[in-house]
Amino acid sequence: MTAREVLDVDVLVVGGGVVGAAMALALACRPAPAAVDPSGLPGLRVALLERTPPAPFDPLGEADLRVFAVNRASQRLFESLGVWPAMISRGVNPYQAMEVWDARSPGRIRFEAAEVGEPDLGHIVENRVIQWTLWEALEAAGVEQICPAGLSWLQVMPGGVDAGLDDGRTVHAALVVGADGARSRVRSLAGIGLDSTRYGQRAVVANVSTGEHNQATAWQRFLPSGPLAFLPLADGRSSIVWSTEPETAERLLALDDATFCAELGAAFEWRLGPVNATGPRASFALIGSQARHYVRPRIALVGDAAHTIHPLAGQGANLGFADVTALARVLWSRPGRDPGDLRGLRTYERMRRGDNWLMMRAMEGFSTLFGSGLPPVEMARGLGLILADRLPAIKNGFLRRALGGAVKG
Ligand SMILES: Cc1cc2nc3c(=O)[nH]c(=O)nc-3n(C[C@H](O)[C@H](O)[C@H](O)COP(=O)(O)OP(=O)(O)OC[C@H]3O[C@@H](n4cnc5c(N)ncnc54)[C@H](O)[C@@H]3O)c2cc1C
Repeated sequence: MTAREVLDVDVLVVGGGVVGAAMALALACRPAPAAVDPSGLPGLRVALLERTPPAPFDPLGEADLRVFAVNRASQRLFESLGVWPAMISRGVNPYQAMEVWDARSPGRIRFEAAEVGEPDLGHIVENRVIQWTLWEALEAAGVEQICPAGLSWLQVMPGGVDAGLDDGRTVHAALVVGADGARSRVRSLAGIGLDSTRYGQRAVVANVSTGEHNQATAWQRFLPSGPLAFLPLADGRSSIVWSTEPETAERLLALDDATFCAELGAAFEWRLGPVNATGPRASFALIGSQARHYVRPRIALVGDAAHTIHPLAGQGANLGFADVTALARVLWSRPGRDPGDLRGLRTYERMRRGDNWLMMRAMEGFSTLFGSGLPPVEMARGLGLILADRLPAIKNGFLRRALGGAVKG
């Protein structure tokens, strides 16, 4: 495509992170043809616009600092897109248990996959494994990859939308999907407002080696300053997410490796023995946000462009993949119809916005509950965890939600 040419497609997806790449693939090759669309029409003509080319996957490369606890619903999406086997070959790590405990009360709860007849509770997968595998599949599915290039402007017209790129090219589409992350340009160009809450915390992330193997368990300890999670990597190490006050995060990043490992081990009560080594460290600001609308005529938002949540339950990317599944279902259920038609887009918004809002509020509730140092709250928290641990109905309810509503019983 030269600077003067206008590329004409059905759908332009802006942002080729894990959510945008899954979106482009889901629209280019139908995920469940017989179940959703009996028309036999070919997939939509899709283009993916991304500013930064993803690095090719290197099996010997250092594990990504961004790893996701992929739930069962997201796994099903990857299976339906035919990319799960390639992700398995690159490294997905199933975890069989999850243990959560409170630093200021005796409260503790443990979930086991076997309790609900599941082989695992999900998989820990690196961002680079998901993104690169999806990008490879995009090529085979005939998705036009416009990369590197950024979105500059949008002009919505009754019959379509023109998207201007920062290198002067133009793409004409029936629908533009904004999957361009928390600072979405599509969202701002479409004039969609954002309600956001700064949690006053940063998350420090690193991959660490411990004295003991990670036991294929996702661990989380609620400290007064925020939750500390250890997620199991395939090589026995753990990927940590330590949410804490910004000053503490800054101090933790500045520590030498040995002092950082010692502080981390103590904060984690040495559950896996001493922390022996750490890879590079980074930190992210934690912000909860929800776009005031997910759709506008010929525009739809998915993933972090539409919502961000506290990472304490590891659900951020999973919610984005649920958006992808919902929007693809809506578009496939209307074969031959204009993909930018607002009625269809509103169905997608109704399917997802309430659900995402509930998850965001639930995470904020957990964060407040576990952050409180008031003695009655501490006592109730401890008792609540102990009771929930002993009541199968409550535990299974939590598990169903964590697995993305995809568990038996
Ligand atoms: C500390 C931490 C831990 C987390 N842990 C988990 C977890 O365990 N499980 C989980 O499910 N989620 C987790 N999350 C959340 C998860 O990282 C995000 O929800 C997810 O990565 C969002 O993906 P996305 O594709 O929507 O956005 P992004 O990953 O932000 O991708 C957006 C893409 O758009 C591109 N882009 C932006 N602007 C433009 C433009 N103008 N033109 C072209 N391209 C553009 C960017 O280059 C980027 O590639 C965590 C988040 C944090 C901060």
